[in-house]
Amino acid sequence: MARINDNYLRLKSGYLFSEIARRVKEFQAAHPDAKLIRLGIGDATQPLPPAIVQALHAAVDEMARAETFRGYGPETGYEFLTELIAKHDYGARGVTIAPDEIFVSDGSKSDAANFQELFSPDAAVALTDPVYPVYLDSNVMAGRAGAPDGRGGYDRILYLPCTAENRFDPPLPDRPVDMVYLCFPNNPTGAVLGRPALKRWVDWARGAGAVLLYDAAYEGYIQDSDIPHSIYEVDGAREVAVEFRSYSKTAGFTGTRCAFTVVPKELTARASSGEAVALHGLWFRRQSTKFNGAPYVIQRAAAAMYTPEGQKQVRATIDYYMDNARLIREGLEAAGLTVYGGRNAPYIWVKTPAGLDSWAFFDKLLNEAHVVGTPGAGFGRSGEGYFRLTGFGNRASTEEAVARIKTRLKR
Ligand code: PLP
Repeated sequence: MARINDNYLRLKSGYLFSEIARRVKEFQAAHPDAKLIRLGIGDATQPLPPAIVQALHAAVDEMARAETFRGYGPETGYEFLTELIAKHDYGARGVTIAPDEIFVSDGSKSDAANFQELFSPDAAVALTDPVYPVYLDSNVMAGRAGAPDGRGGYDRILYLPCTAENRFDPPLPDRPVDMVYLCFPNNPTGAVLGRPALKRWVDWARGAGAVLLYDAAYEGYIQDSDIPHSIYEVDGAREVAVEFRSYSKTAGFTGTRCAFTVVPKELTARASSGEAVALHGLWFRRQSTKFNGAPYVIQRAAAAMYTPEGQKQVRATIDYYMDNARLIREGLEAAGLTVYGGRNAPYIWVKTPAGLDSWAFFDKLLNEAHVVGTPGAGFGRSGEGYFRLTGFGNRASTEEAVARIKTRLKR
């Protein structure tokens, strides 16, 4: 019989969302007339902006004519898009990134999951806790995580707790690691890092010879002008950091699929021979072997985001979600809850009331306000005692959910 990759057996089952679904189903069976509101959504809900839809239509028409039809494109993205990214996402912020350092893809999930392939099978990994689960699971699949540690984690992963006590600012690793995943604005805590905190990470990585895998999928939600949108706004980051960016939450591409990863040419890691090897060349090799490029029509749609109308329309959608986040934050604070995030991120990270753990608070919100969120413990052990709500719902149901929480949770 063929043998499997046993590391897959070490993955924890998709407990979080299946358990939420089970409890919701049970509640609905017992209360068929209750109108549930889902504020746990981590997906865009507003339609694509008109400028993007127009570009999609035009690109489809190009594909319908022999003279303008496109087959395979460049595996790393069309220049019309990488040049716009270099100019608008980086040049406009005083950062120099060459178009050929930008690798366009079908999503940050796949890029963040695949990038670990470039590192040694026994490379040591550090993760913030709580965390977007893809960083962990992709390393479990690769055999880097070790065995269960008996506390809900894995014994070869270094967990960097992010809690209210350290203002969700992860501590630097206290033992050698090869790679660190950082995500800011953060999912799930909604925290951001200012320039001094980011510089501390870059300086540490330069000294330690580690690589930072920086996920900036939510940079479009940053409101405060002094918060960096890119790790490359910090001097020296080009030598130590990869950056993942996505159109999913900025331009509503969760179903349309387009993202990009920046791998600067100065970024190196060590071969077993001791030689320093550029990760740029390795990622190029990886992508051109295992990926055949994001669709032409989709890249045209992404490019439309950089037109003046596209920018305005994308901004309006982000403002809409951020207004929802503000309504939730203010409403929950008025209900006497302690709330974090929601200022530079669409995620609101709620401290559960004394005596209630994440799941007990989930049950309380479900039963008393008929509102569904996400228990923080599902994102890692440091998420225990917290609860995630998001600004991705529609306005009317967000307002109603907040009103219900305010009136019913107080009783
Ligand atoms: N990175 C983070 C932190 C996310 O929360 C998500 C989606 O929820 C992604 C990446 C996935 O992005 P994409 O839709 O581009 O695959």
